[in-house]
Amino acid sequence: MNARSSVPGSGFEIVVIGAGVTGLAIAQALARVGRSVLILERDAQIASGITSRNSEVIHAGLYYPTGSLKAELCVAGRERLYAWSKEKRVETRRLGKLIVATHEGELEVLDQLLAKGQANGVAGLELIDEAEVRRLEPDVRARGALHSKETGIVDGQALCLSLLAAAESKGAVLSLGQSVRSLTPRSFGWRLDISRGDGGSEEIDAGCVIDAAGLDADRVATLAGLDVDALGWRQFWCKGDYFSLVPASRISLGRLIYPVPGTAGLGIHATLDLAGRVRFGPDVEYVEKVDPPDFGVDPAKAVLFSKSIRRYLPSLGPEKLRPDYAGIRPKRAAEGGSFEDFVVEEASSYAAPGFIACIGIESPGLTAALAIADRVAEMISD
Ligand SMILES: Cc1cc2nc3c(=O)[nH]c(=O)nc-3n(C[C@H](O)[C@H](O)[C@H](O)COP(=O)(O)OP(=O)(O)OC[C@H]3O[C@@H](n4cnc5c(N)ncnc54)[C@H](O)[C@@H]3O)c2cc1C
Repeated sequence: MNARSSVPGSGFEIVVIGAGVTGLAIAQALARVGRSVLILERDAQIASGITSRNSEVIHAGLYYPTGSLKAELCVAGRERLYAWSKEKRVETRRLGKLIVATHEGELEVLDQLLAKGQANGVAGLELIDEAEVRRLEPDVRARGALHSKETGIVDGQALCLSLLAAAESKGAVLSLGQSVRSLTPRSFGWRLDISRGDGGSEEIDAGCVIDAAGLDADRVATLAGLDVDALGWRQFWCKGDYFSLVPASRISLGRLIYPVPGTAGLGIHATLDLAGRVRFGPDVEYVEKVDPPDFGVDPAKAVLFSKSIRRYLPSLGPEKLRPDYAGIRPKRAAEGGSFEDFVVEEASSYAAPGFIACIGIESPGLTAALAIADRVAEMISD
């Protein structure tokens, strides 16, 4: 990593704000086509934001409304991600997942998800009956399931390192400990005022600024003079806690198990990491924005988690759950709101030319990152 702790002067065509998976994917896509790119990250390391606190699932793309950016970029991003990981030796596993109907009434939801998945271009979907669920996953009880064979898991940190390496190999520069605190439009491009981790500050100019600031992407858009409320770009923080399965709990799973989705999340699901450990989550809890964010997990939630998970894993009592970690989603929908799409948009129409906003990059943002990056690269070549 050629990371620098001071900004290496102006002269970059493009500044990417944020070194999470979105910013790093965008940086490599732009560096690859010969653009000079500076990545500014306020933290002391890369991928320490939302990217470090998720399920690391490579989603198939069947949940999102057909024609939405989430559907399109998830399906395209998944293919790109599997191919990229193979080429760069990032570990993935195409485990597959079961979305399970725990009672008769949910079977209809599986039919709807199958239809939506097919309309979104997702291959490898199959409805299976109760006996087949039991054959595939003896610990799981369900009336039926939608089997998604393309779903998998990825080593998110290794993915980010591979994206950074690709970007740096084409001349991109990463600068850590740099917090962008103001953006001023210039006759051509932007002037950025940056505060450094060591207490100093500096200014640099760039032709184009890309906002990949994760939980703070709406705040950065505000710095560019954009009215995030009028645009519907305000982000609401929605926390998700995870519990892990205690060792020796005698539950074994071969694939990911999801209930039918709820309104704000995908339901408390069972995922596996690359070491084969089972964890459950995330739940859905809208929280106030505090700095630093509160990532604590309340152990008392084990009872609620167990109640929810027992619908498909009957032997999962609260004593088998340990608090693990939490993540926060940057949602464009306030509590009780309905579906909101990703925003990946160049802001010329809103009087902020040369500013590209990536807003509301919640799940499936990890899966979609390479496709989001392709989309941004297309905007810049236009
Ligand atoms: C609980 C949870 C589960 C999820 N599960 C999945 C999943 O299984 N599969 C999937 O595909 N997706 C999943 N996601 C979504 C995925 O994790 C995110 O979409 C993705 O990680 C977003 O990455 P990012 O780069 O946009 O944001 P981040 O990783 O947060 O990166 C943004 C970076 O910007 C930096 N930054 C912010 N402001 C400034 C500033 N002013 N100056 C400089 N730097 C700044 C931050 O420090 C941060 O490092 C999940 C998300 C959550 C919360």
